Amino acid sequence: MDGIDETIVECSEVQWAEEMEAKGMVFTLPNGYLFGGPLPCPNCKTIGFYGPRRNPPEGEITRKYRACKFCGFWQEVWGSGYNNRGGKAFRCVALYCSTCNSYDWTLPKDVEDYKSCSTCHNQFKRIDWASDDPTHVFNEIKRQIILLTKPEKLTAVHFE
Ligand SMILES: [Zn+2]
Ligand SMILES: [Zn+2]
Repeated sequence: MDGIDETIVECSEVQWAEEMEAKGMVFTLPNGYLFGGPLPCPNCKTIGFYGPRRNPPEGEITRKYRACKFCGFWQEVWGSGYNNRGGKAFRCVALYCSTCNSYDWTLPKDVEDYKSCSTCHNQFKRIDWASDDPTHVFNEIKRQIILLTKPEKLTAVHFE
């Protein structure tokens, strides 16, 4: 199963558009990575780490997908990614730079030649997603998100 519920059906463009309309919180990690959103992940049900996404962020869209940075759930909806991979849910690879204490993620590959940290240029190491590692700092962020239950407080929370 590899941590992903294989019964999750393909995501239509209509559903993706509806999820894009869902307004809510945005979180900024100290390393500048943005994540957030009011929707629960279709796979792990965690709120605050899952959301629909598009590439590029502005201009003509070439890729529509949705992703969770807590469990690694990824699903292509339309465009280049869908054409390459199809619409079945899969798991991305979690990456970590111990020099900079920063997190990143990448599509699965056959060879572990992961990209380099944009700050120190050391190669990222593969780590477990927070859903599989209780000591992962995202678990502490998840606990803080659960504490922020009032909707008016769920806008642009910054964890510094
Ligand atoms: Zn998830
Ligand atoms: Zn680094």
